[in-house]
Amino acid sequence: MRYSLFYIFLLLFSCSGEPRDKVTGIIKVQHSIAILPFAATDKKMIREIQSGLEKRLHASIILLEEKPVPGSAFYKPRQRYVADSLLVFLKQCNAGGYGKILGITPKDISTTKKSHGNWGIMGLGYCPGEACVISSFRPIKKIRNREHFINRMVILAMHELGHTYSLPHCPNDPCIMKDAGGEMNLDNGETYCNKCSNFLKQSGILRG
Ligand SMILES: [Zn+2]
Ligand SMILES: [Zn+2]
Repeated sequence: MRYSLFYIFLLLFSCSGEPRDKVTGIIKVQHSIAILPFAATDKKMIREIQSGLEKRLHASIILLEEKPVPGSAFYKPRQRYVADSLLVFLKQCNAGGYGKILGITPKDISTTKKSHGNWGIMGLGYCPGEACVISSFRPIKKIRNREHFINRMVILAMHELGHTYSLPHCPNDPCIMKDAGGEMNLDNGETYCNKCSNFLKQSGILRG
């Protein structure tokens, strides 16, 4: 009994409660994006993604403390973490505090697709919603150099954040909201098409 109570206590407090920026003390920030690095994520990469997003978006990008990937999201048969579960966890951690929360992990992630069962992906985001997650597991493959890798990760983050701002997959080419469809599509241009970028500019989120 004592252990189960302790476990409930851990569950309740495993997320940091009200997210609060250490410098400003602000709890609720409009157009803010919190980055939550899951354990073992390259810290330098996180800062590079943060600065890539700051250059492109009208938003304060806040770095949260690292957290372990929740074990309940692990899908043992494929050694992957279920991204849908990570989104639920991220949403709980944010508790509406920041406009958006972006989780980043080096682990392989997946989602459930009717025809494929457990389907490996690079990222997933609510559309619309406050949480999205990206994984460096696939984008790090066959990179030319560090810059190429970071570029891919920033584009991936912009794609998943685009979903959270309610952009669906876009048929236009090139557009970073195009569905990857199981391919590496992070090298096909660095911007949204006119339609998607106009929507984000009108929402006051995209610099331009
Ligand atoms: Zn997508
Ligand atoms: Zn588009």
